[in-house]
Amino acid sequence: MTIMKHIAIIGAGITGLTLASKHKKAGHNVKVFESQNRTGGVVQSKRINGFLLDFGANTLNVRLKKTKKILEDHNAWNSCLDANKLANKRMIVRDGKIIDLPHSFPSFITSPFLSIKGKFRLLLEPFISRAKNSEQETVASFISRRLGKEALMYGANPFISGIYAAKPESLNLKQAFPKLWDIEKKYRSIILGMLKLSKKEDNPNLKKARLISYHQGMEELVRNLSISINDEIFLRHSVQKIFPDKGRWGITFKNESDEIINEVFDEVYSTIPSHKIPTIDWSGIKENEEILKLSSAPHYPLALVYLGFKKENINHPLDGFGFLVPEVENLKILGTLFSSTLFPGRAPDGQILLTTFVGGERNPELANLPESSILSLVKNELTHLLKIKGDPIFVEIKKWKNAIPLPDQGMQERKKIAENLSIKNPGLFFRGGHLNGVSLPNCLDPQSF
Ligand SMILES: Cc1cc2nc3c(=O)[nH]c(=O)nc-3n(C[C@H](O)[C@H](O)[C@H](O)COP(=O)(O)OP(=O)(O)OC[C@H]3O[C@@H](n4cnc5c(N)ncnc54)[C@H](O)[C@@H]3O)c2cc1C
Repeated sequence: MTIMKHIAIIGAGITGLTLASKHKKAGHNVKVFESQNRTGGVVQSKRINGFLLDFGANTLNVRLKKTKKILEDHNAWNSCLDANKLANKRMIVRDGKIIDLPHSFPSFITSPFLSIKGKFRLLLEPFISRAKNSEQETVASFISRRLGKEALMYGANPFISGIYAAKPESLNLKQAFPKLWDIEKKYRSIILGMLKLSKKEDNPNLKKARLISYHQGMEELVRNLSISINDEIFLRHSVQKIFPDKGRWGITFKNESDEIINEVFDEVYSTIPSHKIPTIDWSGIKENEEILKLSSAPHYPLALVYLGFKKENINHPLDGFGFLVPEVENLKILGTLFSSTLFPGRAPDGQILLTTFVGGERNPELANLPESSILSLVKNELTHLLKIKGDPIFVEIKKWKNAIPLPDQGMQERKKIAENLSIKNPGLFFRGGHLNGVSLPNCLDPQSF
């Protein structure tokens, strides 16, 4: 029999909502504190003048059976929208032009994405020995060691920028891509290991991964996750202090009427972003001097630039997911999603929507420029790359000051600190993208570490 606990969840992003509904389903009494007047955290969709914009996550990659199950449990599976089949086509910029990435062995042979030397080097992967001590290996070192320098420059570099808006040199392989790290340990070769894994009976992956969103944008997922816990979510309730209280946990919060209130719980889960951790007073908890270390995950500013055009003004078929820009190409933008190709309903009929990313670790200063300067640099580069005629008919910019917490070399240490704090302070837990991994599947399944 479950003993009913009184559980506080701090933060109503994807992590907090998922945790809250899981604990409620297990029979506990939950209360979700959210400082903003909306749920969803960085997942936010807005419809403006017929264009549907996602300010945070644009796509959810459902590769694991358990992610599908979580979505099913929250009524968010049957209603999801599959990305257009064309989204399988990925592109990069090489020598100033947008080119397709290969999607099959024949296209690998003919594609100009790597030189002949680069392709031969990549095909040597099954013969490369495994690293001896790779816990601290960066993604850049792993890729150049196993696949060669060119694969790093034209494959990993733009790919990492597309996921984390970061450089492969800054990311720890084991933290950013634990599966790859694990495959090398077990099977030595990534290519051979993946082939073997795909044939295993107990493969945790779905037969066919799905790239999804929703009719109303990714925020529809937030609404689905919230349905069963609507009465337990308290908006404009900002937590200010967490302290031990006779074997339980006290929380001080400011409510929507600016009243300061204390409430006591059996368990507290912090799911706030790492850069917000110092905004809470943790002074009464054991080893509290360690807590600030949890806020050391690097974050960079990022600007998302949404441009709408008349279809006939773009002399490019936009027949793919979008394109990414390798750093060696020396452009200012990081890449562009062909948003209205990806999912239906993102732009009015006869018009298209492009979402371009600026800033990140590569050029943080650009994301802090005035909006007019960001807009003009994006227009300049897109006009050339996509052969655009005329000005956009729709413009919107979303700036994130601290966009994505990076799984850098310090992440392992931060996880240990969080785990140790929970041991020293039973009933106090830390979760969220900065510890569990930033992708939505990780936030939907925030495990302990
Ligand atoms: C621009 C961008 C694009 C992305 N694209 C993708 C993508 O395409 N696919 C993908 O899988 N992932 C993507 N991600 C990552 C993913 O969206 C996030 O990692 C995930 O949504 C984080 O969820 P979370 O609940 O951990 O944190 P958050 O969403 O940050 O939620 C934390 C919540 O805590 C609240 N809070 C903070 N302080 C307090 C306080 N003192 N009291 C009460 N509440 C508080 C905040 O208001 C917030 O609502 C993207 C992220 C960004 C920024």
